[in-house]
Amino acid sequence: MPKSVGDIAALFTYPLIAFACPALGWLVFHHSDGNLFLASMSATTLMLALVILFEQTLPFRAEWRAKSSEQSFKNTRLNVLYMTTSFIFQEFIVKVVLTALFIALFGLLLDRSTLGVDFWPHHWHWFPQLVVIFLLTDFFNYWTHRCLHEWHQGWALHKIHHSLEELNWSAAAKMHMLEHFLNSGPRLIVLIPLGVSHEVFLLYMLYNSAVGFIVHSNARYNTKWFNYILYTQDHHRFHHSQDIREANSNYSGPTVIWDLIFGTLYLPHTRGPDKLGLYSHENIPRWQREHSIWKSYWLQFLSPFKYWLGIDKGTSHRDNSTGTA
Ligand SMILES: [Zn+2]
Repeated sequence: MPKSVGDIAALFTYPLIAFACPALGWLVFHHSDGNLFLASMSATTLMLALVILFEQTLPFRAEWRAKSSEQSFKNTRLNVLYMTTSFIFQEFIVKVVLTALFIALFGLLLDRSTLGVDFWPHHWHWFPQLVVIFLLTDFFNYWTHRCLHEWHQGWALHKIHHSLEELNWSAAAKMHMLEHFLNSGPRLIVLIPLGVSHEVFLLYMLYNSAVGFIVHSNARYNTKWFNYILYTQDHHRFHHSQDIREANSNYSGPTVIWDLIFGTLYLPHTRGPDKLGLYSHENIPRWQREHSIWKSYWLQFLSPFKYWLGIDKGTSHRDNSTGTA
């Protein structure tokens, strides 16, 4: 039972960001002649504003605030640099490459339509269409994410994201540029050939964005019952633990279905791990404590390439795959 005003308010934080913001995007889409960019930008801007508002009024952990220490402040500034470069990279590189892929696949769609075959149930209500999309794409997300953890070549790339030491409004953006392709590619490869409509695709992408903001943020969310179906912050903060037994779990998202099926769901009903960041058995790389955020960013960009080329050996595969939860 809720005991305070904060407890009651925490019941509404998740639904406002995860359900109301995509609904706003849907409205904008229908009142702007199907402008996907305007619809997604207005909804994601509101998501970010709500996350910051809730972190200020209903914080989950004081030590995760950007101003809690000099290091936290620096980490947040670096995340903002990631946010800026990711936006530019997504808009001008990822979308161009994926659009080229789309055109190639669209040719296949045209061929298919001339054969009179349509794989996607457009006549269904949007909700069951979304459920099917989530089940399909989550399967790809699950295995992509699991490989990034349990295959040493993948960890060399994904460890940039796991170097986060605090979760707050800026944390979701911290990711190596190459990971954007891995995150967007499987979804589009599944959805485009199936011929999913723009409206359903928009709702899917907006809900994904909302979950991305929520699970990396430092606000209070009461998601008790959602936790058994949907992926929430209660799963993801353990995924960012320094303890490999906790971090090598909760790969799925935005549902928990594949973690349940493959036995990797971890939900201990506590306030979360003691420390977030790179695995405690790993050597702390130089870029983690570099003073200049620009130099940090550049060293982090180069880090996986150095590993793949054998210049920097990093953590061994055996170290990384032990103790899987
Ligand atoms: Zn991960």
